Amino acid sequence: MPSRSIRTSLLGWFGLLLTAVLLTFGTLLYSQARSALWSGIDASLEGASLAILGALDTEDEDGWELDLSDDYLQGMTQGGYFGLWDDEGRVLRRGGTGAPDLPATELGWHQRNGHRELRSRDDRGVHVVVGRSVDAELAELATLRWTLIGTGLGVLALGILGGAFLARRCLAPVERVSRDAEEISARDLTARLGHRDRLPKELRGLVDAFNGTIGRLEEAFDQQARLTADASHELRTPVSVLRAQAELALRKSRSPEEYREALETCLRAAERMSGIVEGLLTLARFDAGKADVRRESVLLAPIVTASIDLLRGEAESLGVAVVCHLDEGARTQGDPRLLAEVVTNLVSNGIRYNRVGGRLTVRLTSETDDVTFSVSDTGPGIPEASLPRLFDRFYRVDRARSSQRGGIGLGLAICQWIINAHAGSIEVESETGVGSTFVVRLPKDRAGLAHTDSLA
Ligand code: ADP
Repeated sequence: MPSRSIRTSLLGWFGLLLTAVLLTFGTLLYSQARSALWSGIDASLEGASLAILGALDTEDEDGWELDLSDDYLQGMTQGGYFGLWDDEGRVLRRGGTGAPDLPATELGWHQRNGHRELRSRDDRGVHVVVGRSVDAELAELATLRWTLIGTGLGVLALGILGGAFLARRCLAPVERVSRDAEEISARDLTARLGHRDRLPKELRGLVDAFNGTIGRLEEAFDQQARLTADASHELRTPVSVLRAQAELALRKSRSPEEYREALETCLRAAERMSGIVEGLLTLARFDAGKADVRRESVLLAPIVTASIDLLRGEAESLGVAVVCHLDEGARTQGDPRLLAEVVTNLVSNGIRYNRVGGRLTVRLTSETDDVTFSVSDTGPGIPEASLPRLFDRFYRVDRARSSQRGGIGLGLAICQWIINAHAGSIEVESETGVGSTFVVRLPKDRAGLAHTDSLA
């Protein structure tokens, strides 16, 4: 369907409506005037017919006598006529021009030769025909018709002009807003539609929604730019290490131990790079909605136990004691592989960011509607200022310390995404010098029925 402007539509509808109103009004007015005119004519003819019959004396030896003044008869025959016949069809009296020669057979109202005519008969058998010309009335009606058509067309033209003016005035803010919106290009997402308070009420919501969308777009662009910069920055260090080690090793011939050492450093750098790339790919898949999130009934205790077993060696090497309180029946709906990733990330953080000889308490409880999984450590804690950014991509509280422990700053961002995809929540409480507690809440699976389908 071709797109029409609002102004054209408004004008079209307005014109149509105005035409309908004018047509109805004009037709009503014309038919009222017409019927008033005809009623006047008919009343005068009826009056004349009655007067003539009333004035006709009964037959005597002298015949019929019409007892009407000459003035009256003259007035009546001006532009009209009359005729009287007895019951045998003999003409008793005729006057004016145009009266028929014979008594009329069909009684009632008739239209003949531009005349209106009334034919009647009384109980004496006398026929009377009275008629008059309606030329003047027809001309009057024609004048009225043309006056109405002319006035109607004039009013329509004026109405359309006025409507066009009003439509232009009312739509001016819309045009201004769309011009401004066009100017806000992808390169200038900092700009916003202004003069909100001077706009009509109906447009304010639209402007707010547009500004909100641009704001979110700007934030997304910024985030994307920050992520690209952070990722490049993160990759630069291991790439430099790789390059420096290779250059150093190649500068002169080295002993097998030295080559081994260089290769080991290169391997660590490559592992870090692959960790960053893996993490970025996972998040990119999540963002693109391409992550395959299964949905099945999951018993959480075995997942937690398996994760802890996997990290036990690391905990022992750092002297961290892991204590578990697990509700064996805690069950949720979701993807066991992704949930295991959350558990491993949080337990691993609790071990890596703990103090030597510290303790890690892992709890899994089942409540009325939720299952809660918490990890409490006895590490240095997280400063309050860092808490709001803790789940941002590549954010690390102590960059140097985290990198030293193999951290890349993507683990918590991945955890948060997975938990959101399971309709859960993750919170952190921390006290500097005492430790941190990460609490994950997931909807409880009561039915516990094993079925598999896709969430995303
Ligand atoms: P990574 O551990 O790979 O650096 P994460 O996203 O898992 O990335 O964590 C982000 C940052 O949050 C870490 O670098 C660390 O500074 C801080 N952090 C996470 N868990 C803890 C914790 N249990 N105690 C103290 N700091 C933590």
